[in-house]
Amino acid sequence: MREELEERLKAEYPTLFELGCSCDIDDGWEALLRRLCEDIHHEKTVKFTQIKVKFGGLRAYTTACSKEIDERLQEAEIESFWTCEKCGEDGQLASTTSGWLFTACQDCLDLRKANGTRCDWVPHDSS
Ligand SMILES: [Zn+2]
Repeated sequence: MREELEERLKAEYPTLFELGCSCDIDDGWEALLRRLCEDIHHEKTVKFTQIKVKFGGLRAYTTACSKEIDERLQEAEIESFWTCEKCGEDGQLASTTSGWLFTACQDCLDLRKANGTRCDWVPHDSS
């Protein structure tokens, strides 16, 4: 995430981020992360320790939290799989030929291909 976005979010929710917590996600998920902050910052003991991309989805690690917060974190993760990580438009799961998963919209996937990344949609699990 661009540094200015990350700094702004941390300034708005100072109790939510542990010192040195990195937000290693792209700008497209900023709105999603912001809504998550809004929903959980009332629980004063919970802090993000790390926010990153895992298997193409948003994964937020926190200090110990209540079941309610945990469920909200999972919701955010599910939502991230339908949100382009670059631009925030509706997206879906894609993969590079080397197996790196990411969530993209059609335009951002096309852009990656145009820039020489060999990648395509991950077929929906039909089982
Ligand atoms: Zn996009």
